[in-house]
Amino acid sequence: MQPFSLVRPNSLSEAGSAFRGDAAYLAGGHTLIPAMKSRLRSVETLVDLSRIPELSDIAVEGDRLSVGAMARHARVAASPVVHEAIPGLAALAGGIGDPQVRNRGTLGGSIANNDPAADYPAAVLALDGVVETNRGSHAAEDYFQGMFATALADGEIVTAVRFRIPQASAYAKHPHPASRYALAGVYVACFAEGHRVAVTGATTGVVRWPAAEAALDSGAALEGLALASDDLASDIHASAEFRAHLAGVMLRKAAASL
Ligand SMILES: Cc1cc2nc3c(=O)[nH]c(=O)nc-3n(C[C@H](O)[C@H](O)[C@H](O)COP(=O)(O)OP(=O)(O)OC[C@H]3O[C@@H](n4cnc5c(N)ncnc54)[C@H](O)[C@@H]3O)c2cc1C
Repeated sequence: MQPFSLVRPNSLSEAGSAFRGDAAYLAGGHTLIPAMKSRLRSVETLVDLSRIPELSDIAVEGDRLSVGAMARHARVAASPVVHEAIPGLAALAGGIGDPQVRNRGTLGGSIANNDPAADYPAAVLALDGVVETNRGSHAAEDYFQGMFATALADGEIVTAVRFRIPQASAYAKHPHPASRYALAGVYVACFAEGHRVAVTGATTGVVRWPAAEAALDSGAALEGLALASDDLASDIHASAEFRAHLAGVMLRKAAASL
């Protein structure tokens, strides 16, 4: 690892000012530190977000559940507020990685990184989330921009995600057996006006699945539905065809637990 300076600000404004030149925000370090150790990423200044108290808040605000960017997966999984408002989100957080990953990894780190196989992006998109930052906000539809790409500008800090509270929701994933990242993961959310379905892991970035939404809205059979996309991922872990099929299986599993 190359030498770097560590800054530990106590407020968002201090964090924003400390981000200069070749800098990076540090959340749980689960993605960032291995990337620095293997020299895939070189950083001169690490700006640690862990001492900014409001970044860990979890609260219901009107029809939305707000989860702070530094809320760790284990805390979201165990939070009575999350269980009460969106039990499907608590279950998703409890299925991320292993206990070590859940005790360090954060919501903000996950969606800033936007790994195409990460679980949270499916929840943010299906639950009509708004990504709050120190500079404004991004609707989920605009925020996720494909593999490891987001609408965040250089130096912009994710402060929280405001999830719209659904009537019911559920997530199902087929996990990679080692990492638990999703080979295909499907989040189904039911709102008064209809269903929203988002798929992670199967394509090169999280996407909504209009055919699944229409089938759920009309009560049509989900049997035989497979994900049709030009961007299906294919790698040593699973072929594009297998991922398309798995998305259908995960859709039926999630829908059955609504
Ligand atoms: C072994 C292993 C297994 C895993 N399994 C899963 C899994 O099953 N499902 C899953 O979804 N994920 C999984 N993950 C990912 C993990 O859950 C973390 O969320 C992810 O690695 C990001 O880590 P972090 O939160 O510690 O962020 P960091 O590593 O600290 O940061 C990641 C990136 O986001 C930036 N960043 C962090 N916070 C902010 C912020 N608030 N604003 C702006 N930028 C920010 C950083 O600068 C960096 O570029 C796994 C990770 C590991 C190491």
